[in-house]
Amino acid sequence: MSDWRWQNISRAEATCHCGQCGRVASPEWLDWLQDLRDYVGFPLPFRSIVRCPSHNESIGGSSTSVHLLSAEPGPYGGADIGIKPRSRAAGGAPDRIFRIVKEALAMGFNNIEICDGHIHAGHVPPGHPQYECVYWGRSRDRMADPGGYSRRKR
Ligand SMILES: [Zn+2]
Repeated sequence: MSDWRWQNISRAEATCHCGQCGRVASPEWLDWLQDLRDYVGFPLPFRSIVRCPSHNESIGGSSTSVHLLSAEPGPYGGADIGIKPRSRAAGGAPDRIFRIVKEALAMGFNNIEICDGHIHAGHVPPGHPQYECVYWGRSRDRMADPGGYSRRKR
């Protein structure tokens, strides 16, 4: 569509992957993600941005998942970026991860999760349970690591 102004984010990336709800990330949140992409200066493969509650539950996401905010009005939400925080020998790009974290924090992102198959960057309002938190974890959404290990529910 002609009003799609986010050069480096596709409509598919910005839409819930359940295939049913059709929820799309808010324009404010997409502006943040496009700005992050512009600041880092290299492609960001967005594996998961929006999750509706039922999709979030089906992939074993936390009930307070930041991705649940991505379609709400305002510059809040999460994004899973399919770059591996591993050594180069293990297929990762630690220098890119560093740049993503550096630029995200400079912009005001306040929620980071380092996972085996992706990095999650989020922005939540004060008072949210994940406000100013860094987590580590395993990639849940299979799209985050298509050739990777099996998904685990927890
Ligand atoms: Zn959905």
